[in-house]
Amino acid sequence: MSLTPLNNIGEFALLERLAKLINIYNKDKVIKGIGDDAAVIKPDIDLVQVVTTDMLVENIHFDLSWMPLKHLGYKSIVVNVSDVVAMNAIPAHVTVTLAISNRFTLEAIDELYEGIRLACENYKIDIIGGDMVSSNQGLIISITAMGYINKENLVYRNGAKPNDLICVTGDLGTAYAGLLILQREKKTFMANPYYQPDLQNYEYVIEKQIKPEPRIDIINKLRELNILPTAMIDISDGLSSELHHICRQSNTGCRIYEDHIPIDMMVSNIADEFYISPITMALHGGEDYELLFTIPLNQYDLIKNIDDISVIGHITDANEGMYLINNIGEAIELKAQGWDSFKKEE
Ligand SMILES: [Mg+2]
Repeated sequence: MSLTPLNNIGEFALLERLAKLINIYNKDKVIKGIGDDAAVIKPDIDLVQVVTTDMLVENIHFDLSWMPLKHLGYKSIVVNVSDVVAMNAIPAHVTVTLAISNRFTLEAIDELYEGIRLACENYKIDIIGGDMVSSNQGLIISITAMGYINKENLVYRNGAKPNDLICVTGDLGTAYAGLLILQREKKTFMANPYYQPDLQNYEYVIEKQIKPEPRIDIINKLRELNILPTAMIDISDGLSSELHHICRQSNTGCRIYEDHIPIDMMVSNIADEFYISPITMALHGGEDYELLFTIPLNQYDLIKNIDDISVIGHITDANEGMYLINNIGEAIELKAQGWDSFKKEE
């Protein structure tokens, strides 16, 4: 297959290519999508709009030596949608802006688009605008996502109250375990190009790293059951630092229990291989895109049987501090040494 250099194509044609892939799912709200100076949106009168934006920079937020471009496109939508979902809102539209160096071919950018398109199709999200510029070196993807919700159903980080239950979805530390495996295989491969990476036994954790899913299913389930969380956040930087956000903004403390924190067996085994304790991976590993939320104690019966939600502890008064109770009953202060974007550069 012959590859097409990007400078044969031009920015305008690239944008047109993106526009062709687009389906408008929320036709009632999008009056004008791509094609004019600006998009035109008309939200329902009784809804509020939430807006969030996230930028992904090559070699800081992703490494193309193990991240396929199609997955990168998909994940770039996911990380934004996850923030909309963490407000308890239904994601509806995105704008997509790319800075691309000429070392990429048209076929490579098509792969990236395909991942973006697939995620938008899965979550019924419209691409309503974007921009395309050239970059001197790497690839930069900047996405803005918008969603809608009734004002009274919005969930902020600051509503947690003492005695509320602390809940998480899925299992934690999984995407970080996937990252450790991918980085190890890359190192071995660089040392010996004939080496065939052995990823077969690690599919679950690698999938979580390269193709996470936002928990739209969970906010739908909670809505069905008439449960409105008092506070919510998505877990992008690790449980510990997200708990800090909720407690600081709600002016509370918390107690969580090591034996209640959901960790997959594969993650525990990988933690052993890397001489890290599984609980450290779950507390500080980033990029799981699960939800962390609090609910009033009297709603325990409503959620206790939901698959994929674990109650890991409760909210306390601020002066009681933030603690993890470990498996031998010791209280260990929770530090927010999450995986912020500057630490990732190291
Ligand atoms: Mg977030």
